[in-house]
Amino acid sequence: MKRLSLGALRGRARVHAVRGGVHPKDNKALSAECPIEPIPLSGLLRVPLQQHIGAEAEPVVAKGDRVAKGQVLAIGRRAVSAAVHAPTSGRVIAIGRFVAPHPSGLPVATITLRPDGEDRWADLPSPLDPNTATPDALAERVAASGIVGMGGATFPSAVKLDLRNRFPLDTLVINAAECEPYLTCDDRLLRERAAAVADGILCMARALTVDKVIVAIESNKPQAAAAMRKAVANLPLDARVIVVPTRYPMGSEKHLVQALTGRETPARALTAEIGLVVHNPATAYAVHRAVRHGEPLISRILTVSGRAVARPANIEVPIGTPIADILAHCGGTLGEPARLLLGGPMMGLPVPSTRAPVVKGTNGILALSAAECRRDEAMPCIRCGTCVTVCPSGLTPLELNARIRNEELDGAVRIGLLDCISCGSCSYVCPSNIPLIQSFNYAKGKLAAQQRVKHQQEETKRLAQQREVRLERIAAAKMEALKRRKAEMAAKKAKAKAQEGAKAAAPLETAS
Ligand code: SF4
Ligand code: SF4
Repeated sequence: MKRLSLGALRGRARVHAVRGGVHPKDNKALSAECPIEPIPLSGLLRVPLQQHIGAEAEPVVAKGDRVAKGQVLAIGRRAVSAAVHAPTSGRVIAIGRFVAPHPSGLPVATITLRPDGEDRWADLPSPLDPNTATPDALAERVAASGIVGMGGATFPSAVKLDLRNRFPLDTLVINAAECEPYLTCDDRLLRERAAAVADGILCMARALTVDKVIVAIESNKPQAAAAMRKAVANLPLDARVIVVPTRYPMGSEKHLVQALTGRETPARALTAEIGLVVHNPATAYAVHRAVRHGEPLISRILTVSGRAVARPANIEVPIGTPIADILAHCGGTLGEPARLLLGGPMMGLPVPSTRAPVVKGTNGILALSAAECRRDEAMPCIRCGTCVTVCPSGLTPLELNARIRNEELDGAVRIGLLDCISCGSCSYVCPSNIPLIQSFNYAKGKLAAQQRVKHQQEETKRLAQQREVRLERIAAAKMEALKRRKAEMAAKKAKAKAQEGAKAAAPLETAS
């Protein structure tokens, strides 16, 4: 492959300096030349109702129902949620809790589908033209199609497209950095389906009512950058590809925006607050399928890699396919993997069970050999400060860890725990092999659980107060009715008395 200078790769666009970051061995060569391939349908598909950030979807089918491919299985509830659809035609054989790739590690409400082998589509909505459809119509189509951020964040995409109603936006950024080692599914998508991704970008730009688009790609993917440059050249938008340096975590939304524009997003704020919305290229591809073809999000492309898998690959997988079936499709594992991960090695989560299904946010399955994993014992902190140097969020990981170890969670929050993006750079460089990222994830999980309990207590208090107000209202209404009845009775009595008086007076009047 011809090597290009960074200047040429950047296409003369200025890339701004960002804080921190590391250069882990990218190991992308294992799968980068593996074209996207299909996988045979599994005997059972398990479709979790919680594949996104926000409220769990609500089932609209029952056990025993026959469903068609693309049919809605569950609808999104509340403002932040996402619908889920049947990945193929078949019969619903169960609705219940099942192991799933969820950060909580707990089983998730799941619809189990037995495919009938016909792969028969439901009636799909008509195609939309992004140049004539209204922004609301485009966002509604994205919502109805159950599309979520497919880079792993899984935030419902329609909610992000609606940000135009809350903030003045000027730019759509397509985050194709794919900075996690091993993962190459976005690289392959851009190389093989650049025109469809570019069309999805047009749909999203129209929905956001912005004309400026930046497609950001790391310098280790020159073919993807070339394919996207060609694809966006004909868009009726001010769209360009900017090649950013290969440095982890360049794909972190806020850092990418800073590298591209020099604009810094305030802590705990959205990039939309400084005018930019960031989407993943796989999300753009899903939007293209939904807008132009009416197809909901029922499959995704993911990378299977690591030296403990027999045949690394990039595969287009129906949502709900068991991880075991995907590994089997790739020739199985070479012995017991030292680590089996969903996602990349820096931010990925352990596979809870190979029976768990692939969900909308699953961008990789890694089977890592012992040689690929660091297994040294954790040693005491030597206060070398390396973790501080690499932290892209400007935190002091050693201090955060010290507070968490002492169960001083409030103290950890005060020094920025909630600004930690869980990138794992600090753990990666720590010479004492301290599991810093596990410590931060533990603390964040504990805080989230405390928050949930607090929320439940507040909800219980609110309901109790509502009940008290209701009972007071009922008592006041009863009192009012009693008063009214008394007044009516008194009036009746007075009337009767008056009538009796009138009767008594009548003979006297006649006699006179
Ligand atoms: S890198 Fe590790 S040893 Fe060095 S200061 Fe940070 S926590 Fe301590
Ligand atoms: S995991 Fe958190 S603390 Fe560690 S480098 Fe990343 S952002 Fe900083």
